[in-house]
Amino acid sequence: MNFHNLIELMDYFKTEQDCIKYLYERRIKNNIKCPYCNCSCCSYLPKNSNRVRCKKCKSLYSVRIGTIFQDSNIPLRKWFVAMYIYLSHKKGISSYQLAKDISVTQKTAWFMLQRLRQISKDYNQSRFDGTTEIDEAYLGGSETNKHADKKNKNEKTCIIGLVNRDTKQVRAYKVISNEKENLLPKVYLNCKDKSNIFTDSYNGYDDLQKHYNHEFVKHCAGEYNRDKKTKDGRIAYKINTNSIEGFWSQLKRGLYGVYHWASNKHIQRYVNEFCYRYNTRTLQDFERFNNFLLRVENETLKYNCLIGKIYG
Ligand SMILES: [Zn+2]
Repeated sequence: MNFHNLIELMDYFKTEQDCIKYLYERRIKNNIKCPYCNCSCCSYLPKNSNRVRCKKCKSLYSVRIGTIFQDSNIPLRKWFVAMYIYLSHKKGISSYQLAKDISVTQKTAWFMLQRLRQISKDYNQSRFDGTTEIDEAYLGGSETNKHADKKNKNEKTCIIGLVNRDTKQVRAYKVISNEKENLLPKVYLNCKDKSNIFTDSYNGYDDLQKHYNHEFVKHCAGEYNRDKKTKDGRIAYKINTNSIEGFWSQLKRGLYGVYHWASNKHIQRYVNEFCYRYNTRTLQDFERFNNFLLRVENETLKYNCLIGKIYG
């Protein structure tokens, strides 16, 4: 399979049955399990059927069971188009726009996007090594104050972001405030001891020097880059936070330009969305689509869970 744009995707998935077959084939790679007897080795998809047959217990079950598509009446073809748009639009897509594009209600489009964001979460627990840039951003708050970051930190949500220069991966987390008690645990969890950490001169990061090779640039004094030299005068590395700031500008362009606003309650999901696109930016569209489709397992997200307070 290969497609480079929406037209080619829709050519590839001409009918609902094409999507069902494709989803089933992808799920085989994840060892799709029979929900009745838990057998994972003897299922097949009868021709022109949307139900998988278990050869062992003879049960029939929906190819959507145990995925984010379970409990959804939306055709998979619409889901696939939504997924493609979600993954390939660098700034994301609003639920209003998606609703128009695939002809569903805005409420349905919002729910679909929230499900896609939910599985965009980064499950990688390994700690960064090498060099990691760290910075905070302040998001949300009222639209009129969006340029006055410093003045309105209290009504904004603080996000800490980490970009590893070696793997070129980003992670970002909502934190209660920008105090060191909230920031430092995220660094300890995500960065190996003794690795290089570059930040700005914010004093919340001062304690990092105990565990890391911590270097910083003084943004307040107009310093945005400093060359660290070796003994013989060569440049060992450049101390700056350009990569994480590049990520923040992408995130802010999307959040303010496309979504206009993201509530404090849901902001981690939007952050996950932008992290996922950033981390898969070197993949081709169809590779990213396929990767993403492997994530749809076991994520049944109930509407009540989305509108309630449950979110880890
Ligand atoms: Zn079975």
